[in-house]
Amino acid sequence: MITVLGFAGTLLLLGPWVAVVVLSSAVPAMMAEVAVSRRRAAMVGRIGPAQRRELFFSSLLTNPDAAKEVRLFGVGRYLWRRMTTEIETINREHRRVDRRELAVQAALALLSAAVTGGLLLFAVRSAVRGELSVGDVVLVVAAVASVQTALAGLVTDTVSSYQALLLFRHYLIVVDAGPDLPLSPCPRPVPALRHGIELRDVWFRYADGQPWVLRGVNLLIPAGLTTAVVGLNGAGKSTLVKLLCRLYDPTRGAVLWDGVDVREFDPAQLRGRVRTVFQDALAYELTARENIAMGDLTALTDQARIEAAARTAGVHDVLNKLPRGYETLLTRIFFAESDQGDPETGMVLSGGQQQRLALARGLILGASDLLILDEPSSALDAEAEHDVHTRLRAARRGRTGVLISHRLGVVREADSIVVLADGVISERGSHDELIAEGGAYAALFELQAAGYRASTTEVLS
Ligand code: ADP
Ligand code: MG
Repeated sequence: MITVLGFAGTLLLLGPWVAVVVLSSAVPAMMAEVAVSRRRAAMVGRIGPAQRRELFFSSLLTNPDAAKEVRLFGVGRYLWRRMTTEIETINREHRRVDRRELAVQAALALLSAAVTGGLLLFAVRSAVRGELSVGDVVLVVAAVASVQTALAGLVTDTVSSYQALLLFRHYLIVVDAGPDLPLSPCPRPVPALRHGIELRDVWFRYADGQPWVLRGVNLLIPAGLTTAVVGLNGAGKSTLVKLLCRLYDPTRGAVLWDGVDVREFDPAQLRGRVRTVFQDALAYELTARENIAMGDLTALTDQARIEAAARTAGVHDVLNKLPRGYETLLTRIFFAESDQGDPETGMVLSGGQQQRLALARGLILGASDLLILDEPSSALDAEAEHDVHTRLRAARRGRTGVLISHRLGVVREADSIVVLADGVISERGSHDELIAEGGAYAALFELQAAGYRASTTEVLS
C-alpha cells in the first residue's frame, strides 16, 4: 500500500490521469482473480467425494489386513485402476481451473504491458517535446513498474485470503454441526440401576426412507439378571444394543432406565454405566496394556486391574508370553527397516485372541451397571468359548447382562431368552419354556443340536 501510494505520487507529476490509469488497471485484475478463486474453492468442495474414494482405495492397497484378500483374489490391479481413475478425475478438475487461471493471468499480463508501454511512449513523446527531462522519463518508468508490481502483490494476497476464507467455510460447517442427539438442557444424574431397563414400543430406522429395523419392541431387561437376545443375521440385535448405549435415539417409543427416559440423561454419563463389547470391536495398534485400558483410561497404570480383566477374558497367559509381555505392541506396522522380523517390535494376535482382548477391554470397568456382549465369542473355538462363558458367568453374577449369541448352547444359560424377528420380540421365556413352545427358537436349537450330532456321528463312523 505504501509503495503504491508513494510511487502514485510520482506519477501525479505526469498528470493526474496517469496515476488513475495505472491504479485502475488493478480493478479488472482483482475481479478476474476473485472469480478464479471462487471457482477453485467450489472445485475443492466438488472433488471431496473423489478424494475420499481415492483415499479408500489407496488405504486398501497398503493395509496389511487387506493384503490377504487382495492377493488371494488377485484384485490388486483392479483396485489400483479404480484408484487411478479417481486420481484422474481429481487432476482433470484441477487442470480445468488451472487452465482458466492461466488464461486470466495471460490477459492480465497483456493489460499491464499495454499500460506500461502506452505510458512509456507518452513519456518519451513528452521528453521529445521538452516537457520532461530524461531523468523524469527514467523516474516514470521506475514508478509505473513499482506500482504495478506492488498492485499485483496486493491483488494476489487479497485473493488468496479471500480463497482461504471461502475454504474456511467448510471448516465452520463441521465445527458448527450440532450434536446428533438432542441433549437435555439440564440432564439428570444417572442413578445406579435397581429395577431394570425397559424398551417401550420402540420403533427404529437409521434414516427417513430407510426400512424399519425395529417395529414396536417391548422388552424388560431386569436388573441383576442376564437376558439373551437371539435372532437371524440382520434381525436388529446390534441395533438394539446401540439404542441401549444411546448411540441413537428410537424413532418412536422410549428406552427407560428405572422408569426414566434415557434422553433425560447426559449420554456420556449413561455410557459410563454401560459396558459393551461389540462383535466388531476394534484392535488398536497400541500395546496390549493400552488395548485393555482403552475401556477405562484410569486403569492405564494399574497393572493389577488390567491383569484381572485379562484373566477373566482368558487372555492373560497369551499376553504374558508375548516378547515384552503386556508392553508388546500389537501391530507390525510401525517397525523400522532395521528391526524387520524382530518380534520385540510388535506381534499380531489371532482373531480369537483379539476377541478375548476386546472382552478384557469391556470388563475393565468394574463399576458398570449393564454389561452387553454382542456376539463376544463368535471367533472362538468351542472349548475357548465354553471357558470364556464360564468366566463371564462369574463376572456377570449379580450384574445386569445382555447377551447376544448364535451359539444356543451358551444362550440357554441366560435367565431369560427373547427372540427378535421381523422387528419385534416374537418369543420370550426360559430355554425350557421356549423349547416346549416349539417355535422359532426350538427349531433353531434343534438345527444346531442336529448339526453337532451329525458331525459327531460322522467323526465316529
Ligand atoms: P444383527 O445384529 O441382528 O445381525 P443389525 O442390527 O446389525 O443386525 O442390522 C439390522 C439392519 O439394520 C440390517 O438390515 C442392516 O442393514 C441395517 N443397519 C445396520 N447398521 C446400519 C447403519 N449404520 N446404517 C443403516 N442401516 C444399518
Ligand atoms: Mg449384530
